[in-house]
Amino acid sequence: MEKVICLGIEATAEKLGIGILDSEGNILANRTKHQPLKGGIHPREAAQHHAENLRPLLDLALQDAGLAMGDIELIAFSRGPGMGPCLRVAAVAARTLSLKHGIPLVGVNHCIGHIEIGRLKTEAKDPLTLYVSGGNTQVIAFEGGRYRVFGETLDIAIGNCIDQFARNLDLGAPGGPVVERLARKGSYVPLPYTVKGMDLSFSGLLTAATGAARTEGNRIEDVCFSLQETAFAMITEVTERALAHTEKEEVLMAGGVAVNSRLQEMVRTMARERGAGFFVPPGDVLGDNGAMIAWTGILMHRSGITHRLEETRVEQRYRTDQVEVTWR
Ligand code: AMP
Ligand code: MG
Repeated sequence: MEKVICLGIEATAEKLGIGILDSEGNILANRTKHQPLKGGIHPREAAQHHAENLRPLLDLALQDAGLAMGDIELIAFSRGPGMGPCLRVAAVAARTLSLKHGIPLVGVNHCIGHIEIGRLKTEAKDPLTLYVSGGNTQVIAFEGGRYRVFGETLDIAIGNCIDQFARNLDLGAPGGPVVERLARKGSYVPLPYTVKGMDLSFSGLLTAATGAARTEGNRIEDVCFSLQETAFAMITEVTERALAHTEKEEVLMAGGVAVNSRLQEMVRTMARERGAGFFVPPGDVLGDNGAMIAWTGILMHRSGITHRLEETRVEQRYRTDQVEVTWR
């Protein structure tokens, strides 16, 4: 097969990512730059950050790979889901580079990017994917030519829940690592557990945990512990039922929250008890990154997909199951 070098641009939220991969799956460069967080993510300010940093980050990535723009044979970018202003920065950059250098263009579903880089960088072949991040919480499996969602959040994402909790209590941003650290010294206080059918709800838990942490006599460590135990047990329950239903034999973790060792422990235990494999990709491709977009772009392009400019409109609510998977 002819070797192709792809540039991937990721900008769905506060992180800007530029990745360069070849079609054998070698990551030649994978640079990310975070917008410094104070409070929540402001979409327009994040977009401004990405616009200002895109060119320098692209130059660094090309330098890492030892390549020039003329060596790039395919451009992929995150079409969604994500914040409109951020998505448009990546889309405009991708279209501009494509036009200027005459390079074919592919728009990638961000969630599918997480799955495909996980399949590339772990031994997982046909996993049930637990995608847990700042903006998404989904349990996904390949079935009938699409990545289908078997369970998801009905309101906010798990990462958003933890980040907002930490912000409400001035614990710092992002909240995930701080809450994980505090939780190690905690014990259980009751918090609401909300699973509805195969779906999850975290907004009531966020309100209750914030209230509990502000209540006289409650230790912050205990509330952090319970927030994690409750939210992660909910996630593990839904993942387990999806595993039973789909009869998949592997569980793949994806997204920034997947670095959490307590969540990993719960899901690993569940997977082992069911005789399923358990996979976590390396840290540099777990959270949002450009390499996952570049790799998915290569897979799509190899299966015959190239998008015309008019097909590259961003989609803030781009669903995982909207994409016909032609490359599997
Ligand atoms: P992503 O959206 O995939 O880039 O991941 C960002 C999210 O991962 C944020 O919500 C972080 O709070 C969360 N995160 C990072 N480290 C941890 C951790 N150790 N435990 C839980 N969540 C984490
Ligand atoms: Mg993500």
